[in-house]
Amino acid sequence: MVRTRIADVLRNGKIGQRYEVLGWVRSRRDSKAGFSFIDLNDGSCLKNLQIIADKELPEYEERVLKAYTGCSLKVIGVLSESPARGQAVELRAEKVEIIGPVDPIAYPLQKKRHSFEFLRTIAHLRPRTNTFGAVARVRNAVSYAIHKFFQDRGFIYVHTPIITGSDCEGAGELFHVTSLDLQELAREGQGIDYSQDLFGKPANLTVSGQMEAEAYALALGDVYTFGPTFRAENSNTSRHLAEFWMVEPEMAFCDLKGNIEVAEQLLKFIFNWVLDRCKEDLEFFNRFIDQNVLSTLEVVAKEDYEVITYTDAMKLLAESGKKFEFPVSWGADLQSEHERYLCEEVFRKPVIIIDYPKDIKPFYMKLNDDEKTVRAMDVLVPRVGEIIGGSQREDSYDVLVRRMEETGINPEDYWWYLDLRRFGSAPHSGFGLGLERLIQFITGLSNIRDVIPFPRTPGNLEF
Ligand code: ATP
Ligand code: MN
Repeated sequence: MVRTRIADVLRNGKIGQRYEVLGWVRSRRDSKAGFSFIDLNDGSCLKNLQIIADKELPEYEERVLKAYTGCSLKVIGVLSESPARGQAVELRAEKVEIIGPVDPIAYPLQKKRHSFEFLRTIAHLRPRTNTFGAVARVRNAVSYAIHKFFQDRGFIYVHTPIITGSDCEGAGELFHVTSLDLQELAREGQGIDYSQDLFGKPANLTVSGQMEAEAYALALGDVYTFGPTFRAENSNTSRHLAEFWMVEPEMAFCDLKGNIEVAEQLLKFIFNWVLDRCKEDLEFFNRFIDQNVLSTLEVVAKEDYEVITYTDAMKLLAESGKKFEFPVSWGADLQSEHERYLCEEVFRKPVIIIDYPKDIKPFYMKLNDDEKTVRAMDVLVPRVGEIIGGSQREDSYDVLVRRMEETGINPEDYWWYLDLRRFGSAPHSGFGLGLERLIQFITGLSNIRDVIPFPRTPGNLEF
């Protein structure tokens, strides 16, 4: 027999037909009437398949009664209508085989609800729970939707390097990469001679693929990257990871307005996609995590997003009469509390803030005519805050050199980036969408550690 995924059995199974299923026991109940009920899950969908095993089965004592929570099973049986509430069908077992047994005393997952904190300590087993199975399926669907969106629009997927020699933001938060023997250097008590290092210069893990994507956009038109990104942020927040996944489209002949359109269309495409294809998982999140998951998604999949300037946003915050922890004054960065107030209380939908003061944004963002603000755009959503940061890029060679000098960056270090403005420059724009923040928003999960399989945060590298 060939195995059938439980999702297929539940969706398309025919009553009276024989199926082979393979999965893990979620729970077992033995009735006095001489039956055992096993809830089997194989990860193909949220729902379990109920297996009915009769006491008359020759393997009943040796196998069925040892099918503890967590063990892996192979079951062959006939699909029947279920008389019980809660499921339409069940599989009447003809053969039950334990593939991998479990010691029920030692197995840490039980049928009851476990706290997210506890589950983080068993990150290798938490995908066997309803929540983490659902997160994995939604993450998968969102990743597919991202590729689909860009591929359908003729964007070229480019692979930008993970090891780089530049810090795109012109600021810290870098993980250094070296082949030098740090122990030995420490013993010798000498400084570091990077000429002895593999690349002959300092290297780090990428904080963004943007600059390399710009080189490809200025040749191929519309491109995107989608890969791992690293930031050595030593802060323990519910929305920062040291390793996360970022989607970065970069578009030639595109201004800030075009950039905003692509960002809004991309988000709406993803929201509609998951509403269509992840209904069961989203209903689970709506029921057990946040009761606004579905209604929020339905709004953000349709409604136009609000676009306002940073200056207007600051006015709204100043006039709000709210007491914020961080003061509101022109030139200060927006804090998460400000982002959330604008999205959740003022507009009640995603807000796109544009034209930030140049001093709180990187040097490569295009300077506005006022010489005070840059053509930046951040997309903020309720509950999570910023999920996208982007801009139109400075395409004038002279202005870019001036901006580098003003911000203490040596133009020589960025010679190739400047070349893109020397040879056939063009207006171009792009943004970075954080995948995990997006998944937080979609699922309602409040901690970013719970939307990536193996989170990397300060002090956590067990898995
Ligand atoms: P924040 O101010 O929230 O720390 P940022 O402005 O430093 O973010 P950008 O450089 O604009 O972030 O990166 C683009 C997107 O990448 C962000 O909008 C966010 O969705 C995501 N992102 C940035 N840093 C992290 C992180 N440490 N962990 C997870 N996602 C992140
Ligand atoms: Mn940002």
